[in-house]
Amino acid sequence: MIRPFHYAPAPQRVAFGVRNLAEVADEVEPLGPAFVVASSDRDGLASRVAALVGAPASACFFRAAPHTPVAVTEQAVSALQATGAACLVSVGGGSATGLAKALAHRRALPIVAVPTTYAGSELTSILGQSDGARKWTLRDEAVRPGSVVYDVALTHALPARLSAASGCNALAHAVEALWARDATPVHVLLAEAAIEALAGALPLVVADGDDGQARAAALYGAFLAGTCLGACEMALHHRICHVLGGRFGLPHAETHAIVLPHVVALYGPGEAGERLAGALGTEAGEAASALFSLTARLGLPRGLHEVGLPAGAEQESASLVLGAGGYSPVLPSLAELTEVLGRAARGEPPRGMASLPERTRLS
Ligand code: NAD
Repeated sequence: MIRPFHYAPAPQRVAFGVRNLAEVADEVEPLGPAFVVASSDRDGLASRVAALVGAPASACFFRAAPHTPVAVTEQAVSALQATGAACLVSVGGGSATGLAKALAHRRALPIVAVPTTYAGSELTSILGQSDGARKWTLRDEAVRPGSVVYDVALTHALPARLSAASGCNALAHAVEALWARDATPVHVLLAEAAIEALAGALPLVVADGDDGQARAAALYGAFLAGTCLGACEMALHHRICHVLGGRFGLPHAETHAIVLPHVVALYGPGEAGERLAGALGTEAGEAASALFSLTARLGLPRGLHEVGLPAGAEQESASLVLGAGGYSPVLPSLAELTEVLGRAARGEPPRGMASLPERTRLS
């Protein structure tokens, strides 16, 4: 039985290849002079891209930082204004994409994104920003990159731990899409294919970062998962990670990796759980433990305490999550969510909960 749905794919051009970086010039050419942004440690690659698109040093800003601090964006706006650039090129992970989005939000310029992690921001209209400890997100179609150039070769430099964590961040996008209220049958297919590709490829990538086939499968999975993130409403899992990142400064991708098996256990079995188990190649009802085993095989930290969650912060976190509102496929009580976060904090295996009310809002 196919449920009624509305399908409105985002108007983005995506080029996926190996050593196809030069395609960035084809995407920039019709747009006009480019302003190139990147994190400082990606300056070598970003300079190569700047040369490809003919951007002078004055049109390069390589100071992108995690969570898109407004102060950095303001510096970039000043640099951008002096150039008369007609488009933005981001080179790097979610931090570089985030800075380009912050500029597009302020100056309405199109973005050509060259992603080098599995974060998926290049496929969304979501902009996250920060000012000191304050963090917030907004949606603006003007910040969704019009073109994305995926070059698998660029991901070989991503260290094993970053690859694993960033890959699990992508996995979380696809997993939440399986439970999303607005996921169409097309997005369910994309999510299943993303999970299969990522779960298969990430252990191989961690074992050998130069395994070209595994790198291609991981980036392809990240692209599919990012498409789900860009189209489907994320739920409780993302809200938990957002609260933990915002309130306690926990690292974005690793927090996703640790929390995901616990939230999947909380979401319980049902159609989405069965689809997830199938995509992970495990038995129905075993999806949460399969994800927990996967993060162990990837060598990622097991518990939130290991990545900076202070002792005794579980109840405050649970309260902030429940107070944040928004959709969730299940509605845990404060005590239940505190218990789940406690297990995630201590690095214990995930455990399901019986008979939570289904399909509701947190507040
Ligand atoms: P990141 O962009 O901060 O990159 C992490 C580090 O890895 C940086 O130092 C970066 O320069 C380096 N790096 C990137 N690619 C590399 C490569 N190929 N080889 C070697 N080093 C490389 O981290 P991220 O996980 O990609 O992005 C996280 C940020 O993105 C967070 O701020 C998160 O909130 C945001 N995000 C936003 C969305 C959205 O839709 N708005 C989606 C996902 C993530």
